[in-house]
Amino acid sequence: MYGNMMFQPLLISGLIEHAQTYHADTAIILKNTNGTITETTWGDIAQNSKRFANYLKTLNLAASDRVATIAWNNHRHLETWYAVSGSGLICHTINPRLFPEQLSFIINDADDQVLIFDKTFVNLVLSIKDSIPQVKQFICLDAYDADIAQIFPDIQFYDDLIQPQSEQFEWAKLDENSASSLCYTSGTTGNPKGVLYSHRSTVLHSYASCLPDSFCLSANDRVLPVVPMFHVNAWGTPYAAAMVGASLVLPGPMLDGTSLVNLIDDFQVTTALGVPTIWQGLLNAAQTLGSQLSSLKRNVVGGAACPPSMIKTFKEKYQCETIHAWGMTETSPMGVINQLKAKHAQLDDAAQDQLRLSQGRPPYGVQLRLCEQENGTTEIARDGRSVGNLQIKGHWIVDTYFGQDRTALTTDGWFDTGDIATLDQDGYMNIADRSKDLIKSGGEWISSVELENIAIAHPDIDMVAVIAATHLKWDERPVLIAKKSAHGAVTEQDLLDYYHNKIAKWQIPDKVIFVDAIPIGGTGKILKKDLREMYGSVLLETE
Ligand code: AMP
Repeated sequence: MYGNMMFQPLLISGLIEHAQTYHADTAIILKNTNGTITETTWGDIAQNSKRFANYLKTLNLAASDRVATIAWNNHRHLETWYAVSGSGLICHTINPRLFPEQLSFIINDADDQVLIFDKTFVNLVLSIKDSIPQVKQFICLDAYDADIAQIFPDIQFYDDLIQPQSEQFEWAKLDENSASSLCYTSGTTGNPKGVLYSHRSTVLHSYASCLPDSFCLSANDRVLPVVPMFHVNAWGTPYAAAMVGASLVLPGPMLDGTSLVNLIDDFQVTTALGVPTIWQGLLNAAQTLGSQLSSLKRNVVGGAACPPSMIKTFKEKYQCETIHAWGMTETSPMGVINQLKAKHAQLDDAAQDQLRLSQGRPPYGVQLRLCEQENGTTEIARDGRSVGNLQIKGHWIVDTYFGQDRTALTTDGWFDTGDIATLDQDGYMNIADRSKDLIKSGGEWISSVELENIAIAHPDIDMVAVIAATHLKWDERPVLIAKKSAHGAVTEQDLLDYYHNKIAKWQIPDKVIFVDAIPIGGTGKILKKDLREMYGSVLLETE
């Protein structure tokens, strides 16, 4: 041995320690559910997270026990994140928009021991409480509220819990490969699957997301993660911001265009991240309010394909660079980001605009390939034209889903994304289609299988298929294609009513189309691709 570098495990606690030590006075601003603004700092966030970690210690949880959160993007939620992961527990963020039965399924599958939630979700939690018996502790992320205490006898209030605790805490000394957080993805068939992130994968993902050719984050930025903390950890921005000491603006539940424009203008946001539907709302509001969005340097658009017109409007009207990105729950989520290279500066505007439509190219730490078949190993050309099954590997890509003992990877160690794409020589990737048939409505998944299972149970129905139809506001909405049984007399309204109380309201299809026959392929499967071609624009025609 001629010498060596010191080894320090890559731990999430290191991120909050860094923010506390070197960026203590950097502002964290948030919009409360009642519309008021609270201003705090990385220093206060760190102190409160240590207080909460001291409280968690009193619960005597075992290492890697799951602590769940159902909360919007706010400061207390941020504190609990760092406290839970820093204590060696796993922070399980849950989407409150799920139907109560889905919530209970996920909480039970994860075997969550503690449930932390915003005040606004008290009734939701009460409605599922009896179905999640293993949860030992219910914590409302707020100050004491007598009315809530009365209807929810064993509830604890976050502010009361942390108030008596010390702001000194020694973070758990962990293996960097230990799990830090958990997010569930929607499955095409059956139930959602949990993706477990590790301390190491999270820290490496943070490094990569701050790079100039990624989200380009620094201590000079004020970042607005519109994407919720329960959606792939707000794309990792709360970790990345701590890493570089960026200021955060947390929007709470107010994600409408007007609220976002006001937050951007009032607090001089430089970088904002969200799904395309969010930006559509924001552009409409900026126009109505006459805002120039003058502080906004860049906005990151991912989760669904970004329409070309949106990139153009941000650039020409607001001098804001729109960064298109692609990722998934299984990829932490950053897979590719669209930033041009030096050689592209010579291209004319039209050619640059064309390149900007791609979802982007991988940062260091991610590798991509296209294969002939789903989960296959035979690679196809990276010529920008050939279409194949997109596979990915890297430091922050899933290996095995939570609770499963078999890897999710191909025989040679790649993760098949289920997306169909092209790749060029520089790694610029274009999503051509999704092999999955999930419907992505306003950034949220709706399972077509779940909707089909309900409709097919109707006595007057013979066969059904649910497809994603393009929608101007929500990107996609479900449309039900149905074949009636011989003497079936069911109407469109009957079928739509049939969904009530079976799934959440926003998941109910927008339209029912009755047909004489549903196309079937050689293997007996419904040809959804054909149906999408026939009916995919049906909601545009009626708008
Ligand atoms: P989720 O796990 O909910 O984040 O969904 C991941 C899926 O969203 C991917 O597999 C893609 O099908 C889709 N997706 C994400 N980003 C984009 C994008 N920029 N363009 C098109 N589809 C996208």
